[in-house]
Amino acid sequence: MATTADGFDDTTTLIVMGTFDALYQRLPVWAQHGAVSAFGVYWYWQRFGTGYRQALSDYLSRDRWQHEQWQQWQQTALRQMLSAAADHVPFYRDIWTDAQKQAARAGRLTELPLLEKDPIRARPYDFLRQDLGLRNPLTFYTSGSTGTPIASLWTATELRASMAVREARSAGWAGVSFTVPRATFSGRMVEPDPLSQGPFYRFNYVERQAYFSAFHLRADTAHCYVAALRKHRIQWLTGYAVSYYLLAKFMLEKGLTAPGLKAVITTSEKVTPDMRQVMEAAYGCPVFEEYSTVENVLFASACEAGRLHVSPDIGVVEILRPDGSPCDAGEVGEVVATSLMHYSQPFVRFRLGDLAAWDGEPCPCGRAMPVIKEVVGRIEDVVTGPDGRQLVRFHGIFVNQPHVREGQIIQEALTRIRVKIVPTPEFNESDVADIVARVQQRLSAAVEVIVEPVNDIPRTKAGKFKAVISLLGQNQTTK
Ligand SMILES: [Zn+2]
Repeated sequence: MATTADGFDDTTTLIVMGTFDALYQRLPVWAQHGAVSAFGVYWYWQRFGTGYRQALSDYLSRDRWQHEQWQQWQQTALRQMLSAAADHVPFYRDIWTDAQKQAARAGRLTELPLLEKDPIRARPYDFLRQDLGLRNPLTFYTSGSTGTPIASLWTATELRASMAVREARSAGWAGVSFTVPRATFSGRMVEPDPLSQGPFYRFNYVERQAYFSAFHLRADTAHCYVAALRKHRIQWLTGYAVSYYLLAKFMLEKGLTAPGLKAVITTSEKVTPDMRQVMEAAYGCPVFEEYSTVENVLFASACEAGRLHVSPDIGVVEILRPDGSPCDAGEVGEVVATSLMHYSQPFVRFRLGDLAAWDGEPCPCGRAMPVIKEVVGRIEDVVTGPDGRQLVRFHGIFVNQPHVREGQIIQEALTRIRVKIVPTPEFNESDVADIVARVQQRLSAAVEVIVEPVNDIPRTKAGKFKAVISLLGQNQTTK
């Protein structure tokens, strides 16, 4: 099952097929649809089998809990989990001092050290609880933009809980459900042939789910995707935000429509106001964001009011200053999370590498689950000025650039930025000058800006779009 995953709905059915990739690629298209559906039966059971209904009803029952209820529930769950980590998880048993183990057994999270990705990468099985007698956990891999992927190990019970929380919250709040037809853009190689003339999706008849290929989406193939939406009466879209944004742009350009869509739930990449506007215009329905990780150490989803609520029953989320103290509302800091739902391989104070801020305002929807105001970006996506200033959200330079279809910022050196753009036919010299001016305005006039028109911007191995890439060595970036 060696592959990458980005949220379980994206890829679970296809994940198991990693082993069978070679066979799958040789099958005719009709047989690939069949193979997807056959694995669909297996995965349907893994995800929605025994325990799923109970988990769903548990999540629904907590929907309107007040702050005190959440606090009490979370503190109890946290104490149990940290106790088990101290006593039954080899990694923590080895690393934590006696004082830290005592703090863990008392549920005092902030006295415990932060957890980096490297030890998990190096020895994922040392994070498994030994008192549970787990055999053959399901294995998922995070895509990880650099280095070896992290193996995330799961029981079927946890997998079902992770689906239940999505049904109750992200889908439920958006007014849709996993029981109605949906389409998914993910990192899976759905269509093995890069030169394929289509179809660019495979259909899982068990879940009535169309798996779209993110790798074949272009202006001249967009109509095939829209035809699939119509043919299978798709009601909602989920997966990579940038893929849905691009499809939406092409639909608007070509006058394509897909009636019957009720919601778009994006699971990856940040949705900018511009992207949201384009998607809502093309699809004729609201866009909801989901923010989670494949480890499910954190789960947040947008409510009817469009605010991103953290699920306290999935994990304990902290946003920290560089000195380790908690940020105030509105203050951007590093996101650190501790698993509660995923208890068999618990991660304690795991550094996600994201920057975000809390929202101090209560949400008009009335739910007491804490709200993340904004996920600002990845720490690794920061652009550094010659003066050492660190800038996030740098891809903001593409706002109101109507002749740029897609853009990517690559920092090659402290004083050199390459801007790759996929131009529309109207793109011209004044657009180039504008991009150069915008970059220099943010960094310094001393920065060399190379604007490079390209036919397409390559995705990561997981099919993800990266808006900003920094090639600065570790020793050059200041932290
Ligand atoms: Zn809300």
